[in-house]
Amino acid sequence: MSDLASIRSAAPVTAAGKTPLRPFDYANVRLLPGRFKDQVEQARRLYGGVPNDSILKGFRRQAGLPAPGDDMKGWASESSSGIFGQLISGMVRLGRATGDAALGEKAVALFEGFLETMPEDGNARMRAYDWDKLVCGLVDLYHYQGIEKALPVLRATTQWAARTFDRTRPPADDHDFWGMGPGLTSEWYTLSENLYRAYLATGESAFKEFAEVWLYPAFWDEFAKNDQPSYVHTVHAYSHVNTFSSAAAAYLVTGKERYRDICVNAYDFLQRTQVYATGGFGPDERFMRPDGSLGRSLECCAYHAEIPCGAWATFKLSRYLTSFTGEARFGDWVETTMLNALAGCLPPQADGKAFYYGDYRLSGGTKQYYWHEWPCCSGTYIQLMAEYHNLIYFKDSGGIYVNLYLPSEVEWSHAGLAVRLRQETAYPEEEESSITLALEGSARFALHLRVPSWANGAAILLNGAPLDTAARPGSWASVEREWTNGDRVTIALPMALRAVPIDLQHPNRAAIVYGPVVLAQDEACCRRPFTMSPQTALTKRLVKEGDRLSFRITNGVPERHTRYLLPLYTFPQNWPYFVYFDLHTGTLY
Ligand SMILES: [Zn+2]
Repeated sequence: MSDLASIRSAAPVTAAGKTPLRPFDYANVRLLPGRFKDQVEQARRLYGGVPNDSILKGFRRQAGLPAPGDDMKGWASESSSGIFGQLISGMVRLGRATGDAALGEKAVALFEGFLETMPEDGNARMRAYDWDKLVCGLVDLYHYQGIEKALPVLRATTQWAARTFDRTRPPADDHDFWGMGPGLTSEWYTLSENLYRAYLATGESAFKEFAEVWLYPAFWDEFAKNDQPSYVHTVHAYSHVNTFSSAAAAYLVTGKERYRDICVNAYDFLQRTQVYATGGFGPDERFMRPDGSLGRSLECCAYHAEIPCGAWATFKLSRYLTSFTGEARFGDWVETTMLNALAGCLPPQADGKAFYYGDYRLSGGTKQYYWHEWPCCSGTYIQLMAEYHNLIYFKDSGGIYVNLYLPSEVEWSHAGLAVRLRQETAYPEEEESSITLALEGSARFALHLRVPSWANGAAILLNGAPLDTAARPGSWASVEREWTNGDRVTIALPMALRAVPIDLQHPNRAAIVYGPVVLAQDEACCRRPFTMSPQTALTKRLVKEGDRLSFRITNGVPERHTRYLLPLYTFPQNWPYFVYFDLHTGTLY
């Protein structure tokens, strides 16, 4: 290991790209009891309990070392290389976010076990796809966990990859949908981001130079001028959204505004042409041409969106754009994805069973586990649980930004004064979120609250009294004043029913949404999907009952049972539902 242990001085580089808003460190944000904390805690316990010997077994076997413990199943039956870097990354970040030191130490133990299996030449025995995730994990070990010895390993394995990876780099197209090419380099266009992160963390140019090898101008350049590419190939969806995080990292490193513009235009293109009402995208893991294909996908396939991996790409692109532009609107996709795609996931299981595809079939869908254990989405899932903490709040020198409404706390220092913000809410089951500040003395700063694009009539109260604050949909509502201990700000976001059409070609093929929540029809007793005449208002046909988000369908004709729409996130495994409706089509019977 003498080669791996060579010591060089590493110093972080200041990003050249402008970042008017910055996220907080994972360690500064805590979730409070609620839906998302429950989800995080389940994942923390589950991933923390997977035996290290099982995770390392395949690597040890490949290295000819004793390999005790049980094999992992499914995608990880030969080795865990497809998710190994994600597990390390997720454990480091989630351990930091939840204060679970044992989870961070588990990541270090896995790294040390892996290192014993790695030859001196840095050969990680991984495809580019797996190795990209390993780089993420090693950068996180160094950056968040303070593990210095991750750096020489990162150097050695990058040198190995630079010597051996096939650089043919075919652009993906309709036939080769993830750029596999003859060199088996599938998803090569996602490599730059983590290599650029390695460069920013260390200042070592070798990482930057290797990142530049994997830039993807053949795909990105279509978005340099506007959000309307001349031709949309039906390429692999998750990785082609994730590649924009490589463009975002290129912006950070080079400061070239072209890369930022590519990300903004890509975001708008995706919202307009690819994304379902849940925030998920990519039927059968492909982009759809903007010719009505997305609407037709609801007729013919059950695999509408790769939920965890897709959400990972969504989260990063949206977070980069919020940071680069300071605009509120990029929080909308995060909120939609969290409350519908992710809150609606089945929890991962100890044997590697994982939720993968969202099912939005017009003929009725269900939630089920993926047929192989330990797929890509099982690796992304633990990273997502950590990333929740990285998306709720942003800051700048003038104050703090509340991007998401969920029970949580954040601590920071403003002009040398410690401030703690506590957010309490049952959103989206209620329309308000209450924010209380704790600080010794007083401080002047701005508190910015994201007003979702659907929220007309949002209102802000300070200590119970209405404020005359502009609260336009898709913008920040900002309150700047001298704050004192116990000050409380409440934001009210009035929710209403609306139909969200799937695409331009299918104006009446729609999901029913209430505020940020996608509603699905409980199909367990009556299999007649909701329809309505074009002249009828949604509120005439859907009546909210009680405090829950439960909407009774009023009968147009005699029905056997009372029918309800409920949040998609409430549906358990194998329970049938409708999430898209042909609203104006007559029923079969
Ligand atoms: Zn996946």
